[in-house]
Amino acid sequence: MKQFSLNLFSFNVMLPFKIHSPETELCLPAWEKKHIKVTLKRDDLIHPFISGNKWRKLKYNLEEALQLQKNHLVTFGGAWSNHLLATACAGTTFKFKTTAFVRGEEGVNNPVLAMCRLFGMQLIYVDRESYRDKENLYNSYFGQDPTTFYIHEGGYGMLGAKGCSELVDELQHEYQHIFTACGTGTTLAGIANAIEKRDLFTRVHGIPVLKNGGFIQEEVDQLYPDITPPILHLDYHFGGYAKSNTDLLAFVQHFIAATGIMIEPTYTGKLLYAVDDLIKRDYFTPADQVLVIHTGGLTGLLGMYERFNFIDLHQ
Ligand SMILES: *Cc1c(COP(=O)(O)O)cnc(C)c1O
Repeated sequence: MKQFSLNLFSFNVMLPFKIHSPETELCLPAWEKKHIKVTLKRDDLIHPFISGNKWRKLKYNLEEALQLQKNHLVTFGGAWSNHLLATACAGTTFKFKTTAFVRGEEGVNNPVLAMCRLFGMQLIYVDRESYRDKENLYNSYFGQDPTTFYIHEGGYGMLGAKGCSELVDELQHEYQHIFTACGTGTTLAGIANAIEKRDLFTRVHGIPVLKNGGFIQEEVDQLYPDITPPILHLDYHFGGYAKSNTDLLAFVQHFIAATGIMIEPTYTGKLLYAVDDLIKRDYFTPADQVLVIHTGGLTGLLGMYERFNFIDLHQ
């Protein structure tokens, strides 16, 4: 009984974390000319470090960990992972220890990993080969440890998708289209499931940021086998994960200068480039209302700013 009330107390600890993610209409002349209304859902404003969809994906994982009386989160990520940073910050905010298996050589450092460390996260560097077998890694370090809780790379999974579904409950309007960037497909799956459950007419679109993004469909299927498959646009990966070209970088620069809203090339840059391109190709019907999810991840810019070949916008 005592343990039960302890759990209740723990749940109360989660409550002060209120989602702040307004819907902001974007006014770009090229889009207005085509009579397409684009609204941005500002999940990037949820938290500076537990950014965007990463909080949504962590929320039920953390609740589950509390319920199981675990006090140590263990997860996986690359050296610039938004998920690691979010887990490090959320972990310490809600009184968990955190450990991450980082894909990369011992001692790799960058601003994101430094911030993970500042939040108290323990980093274990592993080579590409060992990184592939995550269960094995986890078991060899923590298999006998009753205090640890396993969180998938990128927050993938049912608990993550459940958190992402809640985004749909917050919406102020019914949109013809919702677009999100895809890494694991968890965010897309959660949104698509919520749209289906609520019988909304909205069509759900994903922009995979990796090459050969068709696998996203299988990931969505695994999570929700019975829903209408979301629409995937496979040609906006720009060569693969974290790859870019001058076109994409110029678009990102123009978008930020025109709107005052920060985006980055790895996820939201590709996403908005795709929406812009589809508008210009008359993919939509005039008067369509399009919602784009700003999934955050702005610290990714810290590893990419040197790529910009800044264009003089004053000419
Ligand atoms: C992690 C991340 C994504 C990918 O989300 P999935 O649910 O894994 O598809 C999209 N955008 C940003 C900014 C991210 O950090």
